[in-house]
Amino acid sequence: MSHSTLPQTRTTHGAAAPPPATTVAPPSRTAAARPGEPPSIWPASAAPLGHDDLAVGGVPLTELADRFGTPAYVLDEDEVRHRCRAYLRAFPDTDVFYAAKAFLCRAMVHWVQEEGLGLDVCSAGELELAVTTGFPPERIVLHGNAKSPADLRAALRLGVGRIVIDSTSEIARLAAAVPAGSRQKVLIRVVPGIAAGGHAKIRTGTDDQKFGLSIADGSAQHAIARVLSQPRLELVGLHCHLGSQITTAKPYLSAVRRLVGLLARIHEQHGITLPELDLGGGHGVAYRPGEPALDIASLGAKIRAELAGGCAAAGLPVPRLAVEPGRAIAGPAGVVLYRVLSVKRTGAHTFVAVDGGMSDNPRPALYGVRYAPRLVGRSSAAAPEPVTVVGRHCEAGDVLAADAQLPGDIRPGDLLAVPVAGAYHLSMASGYNLVGRPPVIAVTQGQARLLVRRESLADIQERDIGL
Ligand SMILES: *Cc1c(COP(=O)(O)O)cnc(C)c1O
Repeated sequence: MSHSTLPQTRTTHGAAAPPPATTVAPPSRTAAARPGEPPSIWPASAAPLGHDDLAVGGVPLTELADRFGTPAYVLDEDEVRHRCRAYLRAFPDTDVFYAAKAFLCRAMVHWVQEEGLGLDVCSAGELELAVTTGFPPERIVLHGNAKSPADLRAALRLGVGRIVIDSTSEIARLAAAVPAGSRQKVLIRVVPGIAAGGHAKIRTGTDDQKFGLSIADGSAQHAIARVLSQPRLELVGLHCHLGSQITTAKPYLSAVRRLVGLLARIHEQHGITLPELDLGGGHGVAYRPGEPALDIASLGAKIRAELAGGCAAAGLPVPRLAVEPGRAIAGPAGVVLYRVLSVKRTGAHTFVAVDGGMSDNPRPALYGVRYAPRLVGRSSAAAPEPVTVVGRHCEAGDVLAADAQLPGDIRPGDLLAVPVAGAYHLSMASGYNLVGRPPVIAVTQGQARLLVRRESLADIQERDIGL
């Protein structure tokens, strides 16, 4: 396998050369979303180059593959930042907590902080990474249906802003861990009984899954009373998260109605008005051209109107709103690069096998997600053909893109780029087959820099200390 099968890219540097100085004028963002045109699934900076190469963040993808190897995740910093800003515009007077589980590294922590967002974490690991990078702990919310004693200790030690109670047993356990003389702010995660989300495995708003406390069976109300009886816990609000890949506003509006109803009952029963309402994340993005994506600006306006109307009708003050987008901030900012290793034509199928797979992206195997890979860095006149892009792992289910369209002459050595790879790829990557996890490269303004290095065989061997 060598890169010599590719047309010579414009690089003249050796492997250890400094960052390429190539700068490609970024297209204007308005040009990327002309009326009537489907929204692009590529970062707004994506710009076509010669030989069907593509620049992202002003850096040719072929150059990134040559310099950093494949597979590799490319993250467009400006796209992340623009998406953070779009949320703050769509949700004024709202806490926007970026859901770290979608993708987290130190640079991401800085970007999110600089853009004025908070952070949603679900483990001591995510929490420590954020706080040791300088993120203010009071701007962090800790989640988890089964927080370990170590998670809770870290949260209290680091002074996390809010802890979201997800089970009854957690209440006494948390209260006992809060030092005398102090109080921990908590939210209660309730299950509003709403089915929404792209796949059964990512629906969390219904009563038959592991997250949250049900309103329907009274466990939410029971937990609220329990929290209120704990002097070291300060109940500041309610939380819900309906699921992921939700592409319409409707389920969020239903959730607002149910939660305002519960706020009103809490007011009646306990004589308190809770000041905060966190609606979680789950805002859907398009993975393939033509797929729907949730319109964030319109979502923000509708949620705020529903909340204001509902609270007015119930005679309640409007609580401070929070949302927790993960995928919609990081997903569309990422592109993953793979090198084709083999092409196999069986009776009915063409399998295009690449140098990554389910260890760097388990999503197709987990939820049947479909992607739209494209060939970069080689012009092909061959007509597109349906192919299955598969990984290198020892499972027949190791599929990266079913029903993809690639040129009929696709061959070993070709470079494939898959957009919308910024969320739930590296964060869900595994050590399967000891292949090692890919690096993360940030691109912006024609410059590339390594954020997370490739996991080496040495890294893997170092952990194996038995005899
Ligand atoms: C996963 C999760 C999110 C983010 O979901 P996205 O689909 O990435 O927006 C937000 N809040 C909670 C509690 C979650 O579990």
